[in-house]
Amino acid sequence: MTYQAFLIKYSEIGVKGKNRYVFEDALVRQIKRALDHVDGEFKVIKQSGRIFISVESESYDYDATIDALQHVFGICAICPTVIVPDEGFDKLADAVIKFVGEEFDNRNFTFKVFGRRANKHYPMTSMEVAAEVGARLLEAYPEMKVDVHHPQKMIFVEVRENIAIYANEIPGPCGMPVGTAGKAMLLLSGGIDSPVAGYMISKRGVVLSATYFHAPPYTSERAKQKVVDLAKLVSKYSGPIDLHIVNFTDIQLYIYEKCLHEELTIIMRRYMMRIAEHFAKEDGCIGLITGESIGQVASQTMQSLNCTNAVCTLPVYRPLIAFDKQDIVDISEKINTYETSILPYEDCCTIFVAKHPATKPKLEVIEKSEKNLEEKIDELVKIAIETTETITVEA
Ligand code: ATP
Ligand code: MG
Repeated sequence: MTYQAFLIKYSEIGVKGKNRYVFEDALVRQIKRALDHVDGEFKVIKQSGRIFISVESESYDYDATIDALQHVFGICAICPTVIVPDEGFDKLADAVIKFVGEEFDNRNFTFKVFGRRANKHYPMTSMEVAAEVGARLLEAYPEMKVDVHHPQKMIFVEVRENIAIYANEIPGPCGMPVGTAGKAMLLLSGGIDSPVAGYMISKRGVVLSATYFHAPPYTSERAKQKVVDLAKLVSKYSGPIDLHIVNFTDIQLYIYEKCLHEELTIIMRRYMMRIAEHFAKEDGCIGLITGESIGQVASQTMQSLNCTNAVCTLPVYRPLIAFDKQDIVDISEKINTYETSILPYEDCCTIFVAKHPATKPKLEVIEKSEKNLEEKIDELVKIAIETTETITVEA
């Protein structure tokens, strides 16, 4: 069957009044962006509390269309729709009968028809449309049975200037359209967690920037490429990401030279946060995002998080804070970052990691240890910032 349109359903909770326009306009923008890369011509229309995508070209890539829309936050369901002109109820009923015949090879199911009349001049009410279409379907296909309480299939008939018919609701990612909630800086490593964290915050409508710290020659070009690839996978949902690639080697070596090795990870993390915050402010971000989760590793105990957090002036969003690893893995598989995350390239943290890192660091002690860095650290941070390479990553 060829669908000439897609009806887009979104969760309307919290998008009443003025917010609704902001939400819908952002959703329309994001849909257009997603469809830009798909073969075919599309028009995205806001119409009486719905968003319609109408296909304007003779042919289009159906699978690519669905895939693109499944990456647009704010969409809860994508309904491939057949549109017929309004030429009276008999024609409408015939069109629904034809639609059901083509949509379902096997019609041994229970069903319910949902009528919706947005065009108030139509001579029948929504209920009448539903009841009468149901009766005509039963005549045409005696194997079908009505069940108004727990139908196996729902058949939607919406009356506007045209008639829209659909039965299939393909799930979308839900959430809020990107662009409705400000911008945040993701600390993106090559691991499993941080891409998932970025995905989750972006799902609330937040635009992302990202910062990655590498330590050449201790970390390879392939490790860097892996992070670029991960940013690309996340950007399929979030839209373009400005990725700052910071050369962290000299800072790491200096900390290694001057500080106790069990404090190395914590101090290093504090410098990562400081530098990420620098780029955050430059990019107009109003928050930082990490993939941290309490107790996952030594640097993520409550005490360690307290020490890392202390250097930040922006709020740090940690969407995975209470997640078990398996729950994070499940999401990374769903969003297709898992396979890339588990590629075995060294991370800049793992190279200098101590055998017995401090698990309960005290902030005063760490702050005191950092005094050992006073001589050169500001200069090294300055150089790291100045030599940072920034690329825009887009799916
Ligand atoms: P991930 O799987 O996201 O790498 P992890 O379990 O390896 O996390 P850590 O290495 O302690 O945990 O890192 C915690 C968080 O710090 C990461 O989720 C990420 O947000 C940030 N981070 C760690 N290493 C880097 C890096 N090299 N560049 C940018 N951010 C980093
Ligand atoms: Mg890591």
